[in-house]
Amino acid sequence: MSAPIYLDYAATAPVDARVAARMAEVLALGLGNAAANHAAGRAASDVIEQARAEVAALIGASPRDIVFTSGATEANNLAITGTVAAALRGQPRAAAQVVTLSTEHKSVLEPVRALARRGAQVVILQPDHEGRLSPQALDAVLTAETRLVTLLHVNNETGVAQDLAALAEVCAARGVPLHVDASQSAGKLPLDVAGIAMLSFTAHKLGGPQGIGALYVAPEHRGYIEPLIVGGGHERGLRAGTLATHQIAGFGLACRLAHEALPEFGHRVFALRERLWRGLSDLPGALFNGHPTRHAPHILNVSFAGVEGESLFLGLPGLTLSTGSACNSASAEPSYVLRALGRDMQQAQASLRFSFGSATTEADIDNAIAAVRAQHQALWGLSPARPPLEFEQGACGVRYLGEAGAERLGAWVRIAALVEGGFVKTARAQVYGCPDTRAACQWVCQHLADQPVAAPDIGKPEQWRTIVGAPVEKLGRMLIIEDAVGALRPA
Ligand SMILES: *Cc1c(COP(=O)(O)O)cnc(C)c1O
Repeated sequence: MSAPIYLDYAATAPVDARVAARMAEVLALGLGNAAANHAAGRAASDVIEQARAEVAALIGASPRDIVFTSGATEANNLAITGTVAAALRGQPRAAAQVVTLSTEHKSVLEPVRALARRGAQVVILQPDHEGRLSPQALDAVLTAETRLVTLLHVNNETGVAQDLAALAEVCAARGVPLHVDASQSAGKLPLDVAGIAMLSFTAHKLGGPQGIGALYVAPEHRGYIEPLIVGGGHERGLRAGTLATHQIAGFGLACRLAHEALPEFGHRVFALRERLWRGLSDLPGALFNGHPTRHAPHILNVSFAGVEGESLFLGLPGLTLSTGSACNSASAEPSYVLRALGRDMQQAQASLRFSFGSATTEADIDNAIAAVRAQHQALWGLSPARPPLEFEQGACGVRYLGEAGAERLGAWVRIAALVEGGFVKTARAQVYGCPDTRAACQWVCQHLADQPVAAPDIGKPEQWRTIVGAPVEKLGRMLIIEDAVGALRPA
């Protein structure tokens, strides 16, 4: 079996081989601590400052305004908590307002929620159905107390890009600092920090290593932010700790390579995305999640109405990608980002996020299309949304049908049985459901044969659950199968 096709670049991108080589080289140099005042320390400092310039160049910033962090999560926390906590200090409660969007990354929403518990007044705006925030909607909520607006540039689930220039203009006109999480756009779309107070990004989304990122802090904003991590006063007092020289060297090179490749990257990857959507858009129920034009090139998010998300996702072992379905996870809550775009629970569950990069080929895309189409066809063919099953021409007996459940309950089952003299001769099911539900339906149909249709001896839902090895949370779906059997009546 060949290795799965990697289509999860928005989660993390493979490290560029040139970056890996550079990092190994730096590790082998035997450099000192960049903070030390001797030759080995200065050598480390030189490596870091060269990388800092490369990182800054990618976003049109000055190297002095780059603060290295452990990644975008830390950069977001520093930007948000560092700014608002500074504003809250010594202020009466609710004097500091923070504005954000409901579809932000968790590393933005969670620090914002934590600030709400500390007394900040939080405004969480809803995007429109294409995922965008209009400058008017932003302007309408800003007040004299607004201390920060924090927004994603490109959404990590959908790829929708905000109109940064227009939103920055609103903030500037009202004198409010704007923080932007550009983790999904840095190295993929042209970026310029003009008009932006702070901007976060991370190396591992653009071909660099995990565990290193940066926060750009505009000189005018420097007086309004305090550090989260204090110690030796590194990074001009904004983030203490010995700098990770090899990580930073890798980040710098990754930024330079991404910067050089930017024009070509956009065209090539956009063509791949178009090819993928062309190959999927005619499937029944396929819904594009995003904005028709304001969109990053490397992400395509599609919902499939009428098919069950977990069965769709688990039926694609040859593809490495992300899904909105909460397969077996404790929280059954599907993507809040897709829900905010107006998708219902089923559609949010049955979503696939394809994301790709420079190493992705047309053949990868074509193979992905073929795999998704095959799995979709298999599930759609089984769906109870289709006409009830018929038995072969000339089969003797009476056709019985029994149905229970609904898409929104996670399982929808219709059983068709051929009955003669009160006994089931054969039974088949149409199922919308997870793989466990489908397996249990199949078991039940097999065991219905030769049983009296009025009172078949086929065991209980709890037994079916154990037989197919389903977790206890799935008992409810087994009960739906029992209801479908109990509902069997002559059609
Ligand atoms: C990946 C990502 C992050 C988190 O970055 P880390 O470096 O892994 O902490 C934050 N925001 C967005 C939009 C991301 O895509």
